[in-house]
Amino acid sequence: MYLYLNCFNEVKNITKELVNIPSIVKTSGEMVCAKKIHEIYSNLPYFKENPEHLLFQQTENDEIERYNVLAMVRGTKGNSKKTVILMGHLDTVGVDDFGILKEFAFDPDKLPALFRELNLGEEINIDIDSGEYMFGRGVLDMKAGIAGQMYLIKYFSERPEELDGNIIAIAECDEEDNSHGIISALKILKQWKEEYGLEYIAAINADYSTAYHAKDENRYVFFGTIGKLLPSFYVTGKETHVGQAFGGFDPNLLVAELTRIIELNPDLCDKALGEVTIPPVSLKQADFKESYTVQTALAAYSYYNFFTHSMSPKEVMIKMKEKGIEAFDNIIKYINESYKRFCELCGHTYTELPWQTRVYTWEEFYNELVEIHGDNFKKYINDYAVELNKRDPAMDLREFSVKVIEEAWKWAKDKDPAIIIYYSSIFSARIEITGATEKEKQLLDSVKKSIDFVQQYSDKPIVTKMFYPYISDSSFMAISDDIKALKTLENNMPAWGSKYVHPIKEILEINVPVVNIGTFGKDGHKMTERVHMKYTFENVPNITLNVIKKLLD
Ligand SMILES: [Zn+2]
Repeated sequence: MYLYLNCFNEVKNITKELVNIPSIVKTSGEMVCAKKIHEIYSNLPYFKENPEHLLFQQTENDEIERYNVLAMVRGTKGNSKKTVILMGHLDTVGVDDFGILKEFAFDPDKLPALFRELNLGEEINIDIDSGEYMFGRGVLDMKAGIAGQMYLIKYFSERPEELDGNIIAIAECDEEDNSHGIISALKILKQWKEEYGLEYIAAINADYSTAYHAKDENRYVFFGTIGKLLPSFYVTGKETHVGQAFGGFDPNLLVAELTRIIELNPDLCDKALGEVTIPPVSLKQADFKESYTVQTALAAYSYYNFFTHSMSPKEVMIKMKEKGIEAFDNIIKYINESYKRFCELCGHTYTELPWQTRVYTWEEFYNELVEIHGDNFKKYINDYAVELNKRDPAMDLREFSVKVIEEAWKWAKDKDPAIIIYYSSIFSARIEITGATEKEKQLLDSVKKSIDFVQQYSDKPIVTKMFYPYISDSSFMAISDDIKALKTLENNMPAWGSKYVHPIKEILEINVPVVNIGTFGKDGHKMTERVHMKYTFENVPNITLNVIKKLLD
């Protein structure tokens, strides 16, 4: 019942064809690439006979014109409603990293010789000389993954009698930025679910994987996915002239302390199913001064990447509030100690400085303002956010969020220094696969058995792990957090409702366990991005093929 197909050349050719089309996120190339994928599907006899099973879908509420392609093959072996979703993103990151080789970034034929000439190091030279790798922007992340799935759609479209159930392949845009693609695709999945009575049982993403260290020979398949939040801190101080340094409260000092106690702090790693996340790192730390003055800043802000395996937005917010209080306490103590020593040096009388620790979540701050100002504030801040988004729909989500908070701060009665903690990026949900449900059990089992079978065709061990370690569109296929804990996310995102909404209801319509059976290679998001051809063009589609056959047999 297991099957191994010689798909190497075909997947290789499709990959090259897709890489040749520049489809950098937020450019019109995304549309061109989607058109190509749609055209390839359109030429298959199955979709000529069933044109309603192939969609070229424009994204919704998006600032640029771009498209997803969705293709469905309905099995004829039985009348099972079970449906497996294949997914992959067609956009890539930019090509600035290619420098003078920019014009060749999409040319897998020319790049090896050009890189050899540049002599970029022993490992790269060995990989070029081996002939085992294909180079090019997007080849690893993740056009080779889409190519493998397109091959499988073609295969099953010619043999629907082998499927008791259905498969849907989504090639989605905008994964590298704000996931407009997959969020829009959820609508079609819901529509098809109702129209054809589908029962979604699993999603298979094919995003990229890579070695964990120089001597790591393994290939990896991942169950579930890591989650990510962006806890953000808006800090207001009390300005002062440099001549009266102890008369003010410098928000930069407090933000620096926040970074010191949050960044790389192992206490903030999230461990689940034996796997540990990377600790938080700072992704921004700045004040709002536009030009040089001898006055300290009025306010400053910072935000941190926070990975999750098991923690909900609520738990992360509780931890962040603890850190906010700790940092504030530390700084008040530090300033008072400094002031005391300064007074001793000068022979002045020391009196304790007036600062009080004051830390809000956005939810708490918002509710306090509603209590003081009533519906006036609610309406004002909502109108402000809606208008801000209308005026500049392409504004960065982080910048947008901080502008809303600045505007709200104007309504605060008490202008003493404070921290307001909030979330300011899209929510990448963690997905945990434990085998607790029948669907999870079947996916775990079928993937493991398929890997055992394909292993004989791979000279390197194929290993499964929990939690795909990069942010990916898999996060939109299920919700592992309880819905109440997600309310914390909603209530602490200043952009919620005006610029961003995590599509909880839509995701719950699908809610399937996910596995990442993806491309393997090296240097994702770097100039020397390359994919291991044998594993990616041949082993990967065959693992996926057998998982589908096991799930829909
Ligand atoms: Zn990717």
